[in-house]
Amino acid sequence: MSKTSLTPIDSSSAIKVLQKLRNHGYQAYFAGGCVRDMLLGVEPHDYDIATDALPEAIQKIFSRTIPVGAQFGVIIVLEEETEIQVATFRHDGTYSDGRHPNHVLFTNATEDAKRRDFTINGLFYDPITKEILDYVEGGHDLSLKIIRAIGHPKERFQEDKLRLLRAIRFATTLAFEIDPATWEALCDLAPEIHAVSEERIRDEIEKIFLSPHRVRGFDLLDQSGLLNQIFPEIEDLKGCEQPPEFHPEGDVFVHTRIMLSLLPPKASLPLVLSVLFHDIGKPSTRTVDEKGKMRFYAHDQVGAKMAERILQRLRFSNKVIDSVIPAVRLHMSFKDVSKMRLSTLRRMMARPTFEDELELHRVDCASSHGMLDNYELLLQKKIEFANIPLVPKPLVTGRDLILLGIPPGPEFGKILHALKDAQLENAITTQEEAIAWVKRQLI
Ligand code: ATP
Ligand code: MG
Repeated sequence: MSKTSLTPIDSSSAIKVLQKLRNHGYQAYFAGGCVRDMLLGVEPHDYDIATDALPEAIQKIFSRTIPVGAQFGVIIVLEEETEIQVATFRHDGTYSDGRHPNHVLFTNATEDAKRRDFTINGLFYDPITKEILDYVEGGHDLSLKIIRAIGHPKERFQEDKLRLLRAIRFATTLAFEIDPATWEALCDLAPEIHAVSEERIRDEIEKIFLSPHRVRGFDLLDQSGLLNQIFPEIEDLKGCEQPPEFHPEGDVFVHTRIMLSLLPPKASLPLVLSVLFHDIGKPSTRTVDEKGKMRFYAHDQVGAKMAERILQRLRFSNKVIDSVIPAVRLHMSFKDVSKMRLSTLRRMMARPTFEDELELHRVDCASSHGMLDNYELLLQKKIEFANIPLVPKPLVTGRDLILLGIPPGPEFGKILHALKDAQLENAITTQEEAIAWVKRQLI
């Protein structure tokens, strides 16, 4: 046991809950991720309490509780609008589905530490005496920056395959190394990740790729074999050769990896996913003609469909999917910006996904030929258009067309669209000019 003074921010509700359990004669400690984060000087996003009080006792002591997993000894206690997870010390019984224990046994703090996944996640902290209880040498590994399975790594991964991804997630977000024996077991068991639901896989993938250290996560997923299991389509990018004059960096896999490394630390989820999938259609569309010229005809369209299927498979939200698909489908249009009509350019810049698309374009160029002319032109255009609406309110509406004697029908939409084009080209700027324009079209 060692004494450490931690000053967790906003832990007052959790301390109140813990104190109340103590007042009733029970043991209670902060446990797991929150202790790890406090020791790392990071603000925990929630506080979990481990106690020897049984679920029924916890529910009796606190008036506002939610028995989220009472059979596993997990009760949520509501204290001043904060949800505190209070869990009875437990030992997980046998596992038969590779993910969940068949039953749990209520036990003591030492056993509870040992059923946790990694040593750095197995610490307890007493916020009142400022003592750390370390039954698994987690403090040592935390100082060495090591992810190490508690106990026998292979058995621990076999019990719950989600731990395979959690190891890589913590190694990525914390920038820690994975202990060699843990790594070996992780690689051996990577093909068994399918015991985990797609939703849980997605949650971990999301955390890995949102981390500023995402390239390290990508490499660990790749080297462990998990990338091939979760995204075989990305594995197929390996060895997909491209014209060296545009892609001196190498094949599509290498290109995609470099792009990831060039993203800003706080890149959005749709942007990171767009980078991962922007060229996913290349392997299946690759052709080489008799002169040796390589083409990837419609790889952007094919890639957008593939990206949709992959993201649906992993149960990403429609909101995310709807942002990634246009970015993949339209990524090649950026090469034409200098020749675009003003109306096309303004419509492109008005797309809700434009900022991410622009960043995708930047890293696409920077990781290959390095020519940023189109990117820089678009930056200039952004300044140019900063004070005017990219797509202004229409000068003339459908009602106006009816008043001009044009009956509603297929022509109607076409006229309105052409009118909008003219407006976006600055060819017409007033309602009078717009009406005159319509009249000219009718002659
Ligand atoms: P974060 O909340 O930042 O994602 P965390 O370590 O707090 O990380 P949680 O999922 O909140 O992760 O779990 C809390 C604690 O429960 C962990 O620190 C760990 O001790 C234990 N734990 C969580 N998932 C597992 C698991 N699959 N196997 C074993 N122990 C686990
Ligand atoms: Mg947590």
